Amino acid sequence: MLLYNSLTRQKETFVPNAPGKVAMYTCGPTVYHFAHIGNLRSYIMEDVLEKSLRYFGYEVNRVMNITDVGHLTSDADTGEDKMLKGAKREHKTVMEIARYYTDAFFADCEKLKIRRPDTVVPATSCVPDFIRMVSGLIEKGYAYLSEGNVYFDTSKLERYYVFHDFKEEDLAEGVREGVEKDLAKRNKTDFVLWFTKSKFEDQELKWDSPWGVGYPGWHIECSAIASKYLGERLDIHCGGIDNAFPHHTNEIAQSEAYLGHKWCNWWFHVLHLNDQSGKMSKSKGAFLTVSLLEEKGYSPLAYRLFCLGSHYRRTLTFSFENLDNAQATYDRLVSRVAALPEDGPLDREKMDACRAAFREALSNDLNTSLALTALYDVLKSDLSGAAKRALVAEFDEVLSLGLLDAARAAKEKESAGPAADAADPFVAHILERIEARKAAKAQKNYAEADAIRAALAAEGVTLTDTPQGTKFTVGEAK
Ligand code: AMP
Ligand code: ZN
Repeated sequence: MLLYNSLTRQKETFVPNAPGKVAMYTCGPTVYHFAHIGNLRSYIMEDVLEKSLRYFGYEVNRVMNITDVGHLTSDADTGEDKMLKGAKREHKTVMEIARYYTDAFFADCEKLKIRRPDTVVPATSCVPDFIRMVSGLIEKGYAYLSEGNVYFDTSKLERYYVFHDFKEEDLAEGVREGVEKDLAKRNKTDFVLWFTKSKFEDQELKWDSPWGVGYPGWHIECSAIASKYLGERLDIHCGGIDNAFPHHTNEIAQSEAYLGHKWCNWWFHVLHLNDQSGKMSKSKGAFLTVSLLEEKGYSPLAYRLFCLGSHYRRTLTFSFENLDNAQATYDRLVSRVAALPEDGPLDREKMDACRAAFREALSNDLNTSLALTALYDVLKSDLSGAAKRALVAEFDEVLSLGLLDAARAAKEKESAGPAADAADPFVAHILERIEARKAAKAQKNYAEADAIRAALAAEGVTLTDTPQGTKFTVGEAK
């Protein structure tokens, strides 16, 4: 598999440290608010990467942290803890906020068919591990104590800026927006490993440490959790592109200084989802969530399809017009799959050719839009219904669009008629009125039966009595 590596800035043949096994780490969400659909773009594309690796036969062990402490509103270690900000906003405790938004995150993931990582670790469960790593960095001469905080000393590194995509001058502290100067640092790029002092003294969660009561920095969480659960060498580390600097850069600095060798071979970064006004972000206040899309009548899997339609290394712009197109494509896909006959021969040779196109697309740096083309080509081909179904099921192990399930549900609904919609309050109301009319007629109360028919007609519902029972159609309310 060819996979772009942000470290080397090129596509390379993916080779894991141990043959056939992949140690994969993902930066998890900061659980102070709902995930927006931009965050979820990153998790969808990381999910496709994980499933592609599994499809190609690798055994993947994936670990994700949950950031429930230490992620500040400013990259320069001077802001307020985002969790505390969320707790204040909702008049709850930090742990209540963390639990609520962690559950909400995984509920969204389930709707989007994002597989739950093998291990999910809240940062607050690993504080002794952070303290051990910070102590180790001090012992090795890579960290120092200054004005109550422990800092990583970036001047001790041969090379700090590892991701070539950035120009050093653009990253320098003070150039980025909202970054204040921290006078306790020896070097402008040094960062906090452990806080005991910050402008925000009301930090809710604090732990005892050799340097005083305090809390960990955000970056140390991922370094320590990754090593604890995946060992000293990672194959792939994932995250959205905004995490490349300073978060991932600092993770590499800490981990390699502590371990004394190269830590992670591949860095997989997903580019942003933008809205019309730029990058979608939680701090902007108004942002789109999966629930909001559902409220507007979109299916979460149509959003997944929208994401798969473009390459993960391209910025993707969201608009409802684009989502309408994705929803229409998704619905068409489902009805085509629903219309497939169940049986027919399995032409191995032709199926292998379709499979090859799909594999080729994924193995060329996860070209999901070509992988979708391979799926459409299967549906257009002259393969039998059974062969098409088998390939749809196989490709959906990676794409996770839930096509066969959605097709089955669509067919069941069609054969059950309007009763299948009984969950819809309006349909439930009509069905209840039809029953009331039937009861009135049985009691020879024809005036009541006619009044029910007239009342429904005023709501745009036309009743037709047939030998199979009363059917209805819904038009414009009068
Ligand atoms: P956070 O919850 O802020 O820690 O972010 C969770 C993940 O979403 C990280 O991998 C971020 O890099 C990623 N992310 C944040 N904003 C966006 C966006 N607009 N588009 C895609 N990914 C994003
Ligand atoms: Zn991280």
